[in-house]
Amino acid sequence: MSLREFLEAEAKIPGGLLEIEEELSPSYEIAKVMKRFDNGPLLRFKKVKGSSLEVVSGVCGTRERILRGIGANLQNYYDKIISATSNPVEPDLVEDGPVFEVEESDLSSLPVLRHYEKDAGPYITAGIVVARSPDGKFQNSSIHRLLVLDKRRMAIRIVPRHLYALHQEAKKREEDLQVAVVIGVHPAVMVGVNAGPKYGVDELWVANAMLGGKLKVVKCKSVDVKVPADSEIVIEGFIKRDELVDEGPFVDLTGTYDIVRKQPVLEVSRVVRRRSAIYQAILPGGSEHKLLMGMPKEARMFEGVSKAVPEVKGVRLTLGGSCWFNAVISIKKQAEGDGKNAIMAAFGANPSVKHVVVVDDDINIDDMSEVEWAIATRFQGDEDIVLVRNARGSTLDPSSDQEKILTCKVGIDATMPWNKPKEKFEKARIP
Ligand code: MN
Repeated sequence: MSLREFLEAEAKIPGGLLEIEEELSPSYEIAKVMKRFDNGPLLRFKKVKGSSLEVVSGVCGTRERILRGIGANLQNYYDKIISATSNPVEPDLVEDGPVFEVEESDLSSLPVLRHYEKDAGPYITAGIVVARSPDGKFQNSSIHRLLVLDKRRMAIRIVPRHLYALHQEAKKREEDLQVAVVIGVHPAVMVGVNAGPKYGVDELWVANAMLGGKLKVVKCKSVDVKVPADSEIVIEGFIKRDELVDEGPFVDLTGTYDIVRKQPVLEVSRVVRRRSAIYQAILPGGSEHKLLMGMPKEARMFEGVSKAVPEVKGVRLTLGGSCWFNAVISIKKQAEGDGKNAIMAAFGANPSVKHVVVVDDDINIDDMSEVEWAIATRFQGDEDIVLVRNARGSTLDPSSDQEKILTCKVGIDATMPWNKPKEKFEKARIP
């Protein structure tokens, strides 16, 4: 249940894994190839300038690959994510793990990538930050971007969520927060960590539930934190209580630059890795970034909309909408008005969503031209639209009021109207 085992399995799928033998620089050159193959095969960069480690990207780069990683399909992944989130399982603690095979002196041996022109510097993008709560009662695991400042220091972007709360608590106690940054894990761990359990639940327990209880953890040496035993790389350290530095610009989910902010410093105490470690990277604003953020939200929306209409077929946060703003939902309509109820429930289940299109279950929601066809032939702008002004939106949307975080939500009910015969709207078939 390691990254290596997953890469081996994916390599057997035709077109699943592309090995790049040419030596490439971690500054822009690798990112350029990642961008070219976005939403495509897994990429394994065999030779990286200035590092002995390989780089892998696109581990969660397509919907299909994520589904293989979590052992689910397009019909049942909602349930899989929701049930793991509500039934987390504590991973078994083992004495030792391959992650401790090699000890490095600092960060300089890692092939940390520079991605975009205006980025502040090299960023670790697939690092799971596992933090110990200051009272020692639980761990929290979440992915954060990390700007490498020098060999032993990084700036960490912490949005006000769980890790933020732990850091505030540590500051109150006048302590630094003990953390370990985990790089290079099985995709089920990446998805589990993003699933969004309540505060106080270690996301690694959710990941373990997704893996059927097969995740093993080991104790770090310089911090009191448990990490997956077969991770590729672990950086142990402390998020300082009192030091803030400039963090950003950095490209976010939208593919646009996020602003510069004062953010905390993570000071490194120890770097360990497996022999021939594989450094995992995610292209900011690429499909992997979007899908990892979006798929757990789709699960929550599926659950929420299912409470409002009798039968939900599928929910997608579309890649074109950065898997964040635009949703398409297919329902089996059972009464006029179901489409509008689905729209309202979708906004309730995911406050970041700005646009929702509801279609009938004969529309393939993974084909945007079918969705557009439904809007073209089943939707009337004055009847079938739901418009909510000044609703709470997402900080990521550059077109919204980013000071007050207010946005306009638009729902499009593109289900067949029932005041006309159904035959008028049916797709013609060739026998
Ligand atoms: Mn958490």
